[in-house]
Amino acid sequence: MAQKTVLIVYAHQSPGSFNAAVRDVAIEELREQGYRVLVSDLYAMKFRAEATRDDITGDLKNSELFQYGDETMHAWKKGKLSDDIVAEHRKVEEAELIIFQFPLYWFSVPAIMKGWMDRVLTQGFAFSLEQMYDTGIFKDKKAMLSFTTGAIQTMFRPDGINGDINVSLWPIQNGTLHFCGFQVLAPQIFWSPAHCPLTVRTAMLDGWRERLKGLLEEQPLTFAPCELFDLSFKGGFMMWPEVRKEKEALPFGLTTGHHLGKPLPPDNQISAQSTKESGAKADCKK
Ligand SMILES: Cc1cc2nc3c(=O)[nH]c(=O)nc-3n(C[C@H](O)[C@H](O)[C@H](O)COP(=O)(O)OP(=O)(O)OC[C@H]3O[C@@H](n4cnc5c(N)ncnc54)[C@H](O)[C@@H]3O)c2cc1C
Repeated sequence: MAQKTVLIVYAHQSPGSFNAAVRDVAIEELREQGYRVLVSDLYAMKFRAEATRDDITGDLKNSELFQYGDETMHAWKKGKLSDDIVAEHRKVEEAELIIFQFPLYWFSVPAIMKGWMDRVLTQGFAFSLEQMYDTGIFKDKKAMLSFTTGAIQTMFRPDGINGDINVSLWPIQNGTLHFCGFQVLAPQIFWSPAHCPLTVRTAMLDGWRERLKGLLEEQPLTFAPCELFDLSFKGGFMMWPEVRKEKEALPFGLTTGHHLGKPLPPDNQISAQSTKESGAKADCKK
């Protein structure tokens, strides 16, 4: 059987950081399980974050008005993307799972990792309007966020000062990863490693090692399937009226984003729930 590949996209400046320790646990444990592990160490690679004209070699399709999305899609089709993007495309193609390892910056990924997403998840290669979300190009691949925070866990509760972590995770987990089709595994969150004793940090790493043993068999998070929506400009890509009516009868919103003005489904973006519990199953007649 062909060896399976995991890609770790890693963003931390310091080899002595807790993020580096978390990355190393993943490399060691996954290799022990027989996986081939690739690492894109973005700061060490000096990975460029800015999406610019330099990402296309040779002439542009339209030099009058530079449109990054159009130009990179065209360049991807013609084999004219810059070498650093092509190298990352090869790794993504080979990977069955991508782990994004980073410290939380401003409720999001560090700029260098956002740059990786902007530049590597090229239109055509990673998504199209015809293939998105659960019908997306990477629907047979998995992806997950693994990150550290400065905040303690209670700060990110719905009644904590920062607000619900599920809301913070929605843009990247749904808007980027799931949009490209990835089955998104529950995030691994290391709460405030800089503010806890060594014993707690060691226990966090042990917990991560344990989770890695069954990671690729885990159920992904629940999102709303495309068939719940009228995917046409005429229909505004809105939920079918009969689906909306049915979902409105449920006690919770469908997902963190599709809340329908109701309470959010509990921990929709941090733990896998059955489709039955979440009501996200596409069982409505159109
Ligand atoms: C621009 C910016 C924006 C930020 N925005 C946010 C935000 O929105 N929300 C938020 O919550 N936080 C935010 N932060 C804080 C940031 O998320 C944390 O500082 C970061 O997550 C801590 O992770 P680290 O790997 O850098 O920890 P480190 O400081 O590197 O490590 C923590 C401790 O772990 C120790 N350690 C290292 N290796 C091991 C090991 N093998 N075993 C045991 N211990 C070990 C280290 O020595 C250190 O004592 C922000 C920070 C910056 C700079």
